[in-house]
Amino acid sequence: MQRHRLLQLSTLALAALLASCATPPTAFSYKVPDQPEGSSGYTEKPGWATTRFAVAAANPLATDAGYQILKAGGSAIDAAIAVQMVLTLAEPQSSGIGGGAFLMHFNGRDVEAFDGRETAPAGADEKLFIGTDRKPMPFYEAVVGGRSVGVPGTVRMLEMAHRQHGKLPWGKLFEPAISLAEGGFKVSARLNSLLATEQHLKKDPVAAAYFYRADGTAHPVGHTLRNPALADVLRKIASGGSKALLEGDIAQAMVDKVQKHPTNPGKLSLGDLAAYQAIKRVPICSDYRANARDFRICGFPPPSSGAIAVGQILGLLNNTNAAQLPLQDGLPSADWLHLYTEAARLAFADRAQYLGDPAFVEPPAGNWMSLLEPAYLAERARLIGQTPNAPSMKVAQPGIPGGVKTSYSPMPDQPEYGTSHISIVDSYGNAVAMTTTIEDAFGARQMVRGFLLNNELTDFSFAPTDAAGKPIANRVQPGKRPRSSMAPTLVFDKTTGALVMSGGSPGGALIIHYTAKTLYGVLNWGMLPQQAINLPNFASLNGPSILEEKHFPAATVEALKARGAEVREAAMTSGLQAITRGQAHGTPFWMGGADPRREGVVMGD
Ligand code: GLU
Repeated sequence: MQRHRLLQLSTLALAALLASCATPPTAFSYKVPDQPEGSSGYTEKPGWATTRFAVAAANPLATDAGYQILKAGGSAIDAAIAVQMVLTLAEPQSSGIGGGAFLMHFNGRDVEAFDGRETAPAGADEKLFIGTDRKPMPFYEAVVGGRSVGVPGTVRMLEMAHRQHGKLPWGKLFEPAISLAEGGFKVSARLNSLLATEQHLKKDPVAAAYFYRADGTAHPVGHTLRNPALADVLRKIASGGSKALLEGDIAQAMVDKVQKHPTNPGKLSLGDLAAYQAIKRVPICSDYRANARDFRICGFPPPSSGAIAVGQILGLLNNTNAAQLPLQDGLPSADWLHLYTEAARLAFADRAQYLGDPAFVEPPAGNWMSLLEPAYLAERARLIGQTPNAPSMKVAQPGIPGGVKTSYSPMPDQPEYGTSHISIVDSYGNAVAMTTTIEDAFGARQMVRGFLLNNELTDFSFAPTDAAGKPIANRVQPGKRPRSSMAPTLVFDKTTGALVMSGGSPGGALIIHYTAKTLYGVLNWGMLPQQAINLPNFASLNGPSILEEKHFPAATVEALKARGAEVREAAMTSGLQAITRGQAHGTPFWMGGADPRREGVVMGD
């Protein structure tokens, strides 16, 4: 159906739209949009086409704020800031000023990676998540309270990006969120259903008073929620910058909440908050060939495992005959899924073994790119059985990239949740892919001055060593950033250097698979972004093969089982957003897609 929308855009209309080329910034004044009640479950999205700029985000109010900023001549970074502030209010379960984020930016020439990942407090040590019984704590015992709260980095990172690439004044970018926080926004179906099933948030009296009615039930869909406490905080950040959040009375409120938690206090201190620094990193870029075209795929380097794992999976597949296996009835075939899940097992084995904060963890053979070396991937791909009905390896062992053995032990599996993805292209030729998180849904379940604190520290390995005492790369250490799976991605045409795509997703470790699927759909199967996002999800985290339930025929499940793989069918609620570049009669335009499994939309002109 998105095809129809595109065909409706006649060449003439495109030309007229293009003629109204990039405008200089005008005075920005925010207009509160109509607020229809959001949907939840699976809602078909039309796919969108625009010519000058586009913004894709997980909540319609947030997308609209970004749209209004872009329309007023703001840059992609300006729009990302406005979107993030509205997400703090309207999608509080996923991201916000109490969390961390990774932002990929393209300025028409260079690709940059801004790191706003949370850090472990100076007082934290590798025993942070070890219980009194000397065993790793149960997950939610660690999450809920002050213990899991890392130093939030999103605002300081956005400030750094804005100093370099902002066009509208910083303070203006907070107007949409302040206005909605004061005037109120309508509780969406997704927020309502997450609140209704949430077990821990009510234990925090501040959160309970805001999110729930007096009888303890969640505010219903369409209820107008006002958040004057957040409006006040945003106003202070708008005038005082990230310092207003990380120093002074708001910082003190965060520290009190963490350190004075009645049952599960944490270590976060005023010193940790004031010392937080965003980091500009060198992106991980790798070459990728699909459909006789050469691409360059750029993503976030460690402490994220995202770009390396996505790059490994795609690189491994290109060493198999995956590209010769066509879709069957619009779905990946069992043979293709076998190759994909085997590649995934190999990538996740390396991820568990090697990935961690580069300030603390030595990359294999001294260079993270050793994990993406073509010769290494070719050798690893030989482990994938390619003969008809070749058995699954079920569980892969890590490789030895660069030929150098590591002294780390692999990290055991741990759950990860929450998060939101934003993709933006502006009328100046800049692009953003930003994935932003407070980790689990509603983070640490601690509300301070109208926003939620993250539980990002539970992305560290709870166990610091294996049974033999060998250290795990991603163990807790003071000042360290936990390993992430977030994979904000920018794709370029290798020959022309032109941007081809911006995309990413929430979903914990499954982010890697949701993103890889969308890249494969667009680059290999020639899909529009909406079609690629709609494709059913599939994964392996180096255990069972996981398929999105009710989306694959029984014959596919049986064929994978016949190869010896354990197959699990699960909900797999991705939250993909993507924008790709298209051409109609030689005229470039943008196409956007948002995940039917969540509430996202795309807007642009
Ligand atoms: N905290 C996770 C990470 O940084 C993301 C959680 C999620 O998307 O669900 O990798």
